[in-house]
Amino acid sequence: MQQQFALNVIGTIRSPYKQKFAIPRQPGLVPEAKAQLIFAEAYNAEPFIRGIEEFSHLWLVFVFHETADKGWSPMVRPPRLGGNTRKGVFATRATFRPNPIGLSVVQLEGVRCINKQWQLDLAGIDLLDGTPIVDIKPYLPYSDAIPNASASFADTAPETAMTVSFSTEAELFCLKQNQWPELKTLIEKVLKQDPRPPYKKKHTGEQSYGMTLYNLNIQWKVTGEHHYVYAITPLAE
Ligand code: SAM
Repeated sequence: MQQQFALNVIGTIRSPYKQKFAIPRQPGLVPEAKAQLIFAEAYNAEPFIRGIEEFSHLWLVFVFHETADKGWSPMVRPPRLGGNTRKGVFATRATFRPNPIGLSVVQLEGVRCINKQWQLDLAGIDLLDGTPIVDIKPYLPYSDAIPNASASFADTAPETAMTVSFSTEAELFCLKQNQWPELKTLIEKVLKQDPRPPYKKKHTGEQSYGMTLYNLNIQWKVTGEHHYVYAITPLAE
């Protein structure tokens, strides 16, 4: 039996998340995270997607390209369990897996063709900018939604007690720019997820962090259960 298969990249994700740090752990947790799926040349034609706009949600099958060459092991430590308990890789949604394939269900907001380039407008994504997509399938509620399913340690969406506030300067920056209308809510919801690694959450003193969203450097401090966003600075082109 054939043991290896090659996959074609059918498109690439353009996402506000420019680095792995702070990306939500699953799709849908931050609906304001908007992205575009840009079709690769060989698939950049209307017939491939005819009728897709009739679906509200899509499954994206993608490659964890950023970590694909970093290896994997049979057991992983899910952050949800504090990073100390080990589970089999196939019992988790870990990024480090024998085949670096990921699966995310996302909202389809629109289909557009701009200068002969077809794209899907998506919301609620959990994908890094540049993520290669290898397949798209429509989400089928009658089969894909299983209301009485159980999911071990990930039975409910992760919740934190974290609160978020902004300095006057950071708040003004969000208000004055008009490129990303939901910027402040996006930052708030990303930080509410508490992106810190489990071992950092045990620290009691003040900690400083930074992340890149779009072309912006977001800087914040954490004290106890509070994130304080003190600066938002555009990065040099
Ligand atoms: N929903 C997908 C799944 O279940 O297969 C992904 C879950 S995985 C736990 C989500 C994390 O993958 C994100 O928090 C981010 O750190 C990471 N990630 C997203 N895109 C990636 C990429 N292209 N390469 C490597 N890691 C990525």
